Amino acid sequence: MTSKHLFNNARIFTAVGVSLSPDANCLLVDGDRIEHIGKGDDDEVRKAKHLGAYEHDVGGRLISPGFIDGHMHILLFGSSLAAINLEHCRNLDEIRRTIREGANSRPNATRLVCQGWMHSMTGSRALASDLDDLDDRPIYIYAKDLHSAWCSTSALSEMHVADMPNPEGGEIFRDETGKATGLMSEAAGIQIVWPHLASVTSQEEKLSQIRESIRTYNSVGYTGMIELATNEEVWSLLTELHSSEGPLTLRIAVHWLIKPSKTTAENIAQVDRAIELHKQFNLSTSPDLRIAGIKIIGDGVVDACTASLREPYNSPSTNVDPIWTYEQLLPVVQHADAAGLQCALHAIGDKTVAHAVRALSALGKGRDRRHRIEHLELTSPEDAKRLGEYGITASIQPVHADPAILRAWSTLIGPERCKRAFAYTDFTDGGAPLAIGTDAPTASHLPLRNLYTATTRRSAREEKLTDTVNENFKLGLGQALRAASAGTAYSCFADKRAGTLEKGKMADFVILDLDWEAHHLLKGEGEETWFAGKRVYKKE
Ligand SMILES: [Zn+2]
Repeated sequence: MTSKHLFNNARIFTAVGVSLSPDANCLLVDGDRIEHIGKGDDDEVRKAKHLGAYEHDVGGRLISPGFIDGHMHILLFGSSLAAINLEHCRNLDEIRRTIREGANSRPNATRLVCQGWMHSMTGSRALASDLDDLDDRPIYIYAKDLHSAWCSTSALSEMHVADMPNPEGGEIFRDETGKATGLMSEAAGIQIVWPHLASVTSQEEKLSQIRESIRTYNSVGYTGMIELATNEEVWSLLTELHSSEGPLTLRIAVHWLIKPSKTTAENIAQVDRAIELHKQFNLSTSPDLRIAGIKIIGDGVVDACTASLREPYNSPSTNVDPIWTYEQLLPVVQHADAAGLQCALHAIGDKTVAHAVRALSALGKGRDRRHRIEHLELTSPEDAKRLGEYGITASIQPVHADPAILRAWSTLIGPERCKRAFAYTDFTDGGAPLAIGTDAPTASHLPLRNLYTATTRRSAREEKLTDTVNENFKLGLGQALRAASAGTAYSCFADKRAGTLEKGKMADFVILDLDWEAHHLLKGEGEETWFAGKRVYKKE
């Protein structure tokens, strides 16, 4: 018996550079590792054939490193797979119809959880009274960006929000009489709605949601992910699944979510918990399920006018400050950095980005830290350049740059500022490491659709739409594929183990039916996914 698998007749993208390998056409795997990449008459290949390696004729398809999602939320993704999906809805009527249908098809559910609502679908209206007549069960609607939730009256009452104060950095929307009206924004969603729903979902349901997330990710070509809002619950589910069912079929690195507290001591205590776990679960003790660092949410999103901008929004003329003041942020970042944890700072508006760059650059240069800024949707040219100067990873989610979901932007921030949106090549020109993720479930987890928008700046949601978003910032196909594998591996210090196809690395790869052409990405498809030398998915 041999443990070797030989993949013949392939086109190969190793992600070491940005082009297809000019002459390699076969990949040799021994056990869980890559043994050789080259040609059919190379010595290693001949020897493997002689030893009876299993041969796979790939039929000219493309072998690429397995995708590693640079930014996602595993439990929320799992629960979104089970939720009523409102993504296709264009207005309140369609939302109501979809919830009614979803309710009918879920007779046993005790609550109706929906996802995919965007503020623009209802002109920012989010009233419990628009939901109350639909069903007797409590109704919860997650905003697509997960920065707010819209709840029915029975949902509000089971969360007991009537006399609850607004949490730090969030709002329970109320009418003149003080009655909650349905919208729970920012920290009110994150700290009240999410934990409530989490507390009423059984452990078995949640484990199955995590299992389903992993299976779904494998089925589209992923072999790794970076979880960007881990808390005690998510971590305990992951470790429980790992200990009860054995190694997972994805390499997972997580960032511990630090919630904004009133005092620095309380913030530091949260970082200390991450440090304690990191001592047990790090790159050397547990390379495939580990704590990479911390996560801090610095602002909201442009569509809800909760992203913090240098200059106020155009219409409505409003603005917000970053959720963390610089004085609150700096000690937390310093404390994590000193313990060898990576900092991932969510920053969407240009003011928050400036804040984040300032805090991370205050840590100095020199040591290989690989801190990162998430999203970077609006950046000044100066901040875009400083990322590279300080080795800060630009963690981007091209799927958020889809023109179909940016229709409100020219009104909200004006056409001039729109020209600075998603300035990817500014980041790379300045030398910033690039990592691509999807932010699922706030957006589609599908890797090739994400890369389509990265490389064409066109819509993957509405294929016929020919609008582009700042085409001058588009990435090359090889550059984008590389950022979604080698780039994301580098971003979490997994690059010695995974992310590229090279001798000695883990045999994590995907066989893609894909022409080497950005405009063909929407037609492309993953046919097989291999993780540590074992096939974990095959298209039927
Ligand atoms: Zn996220």
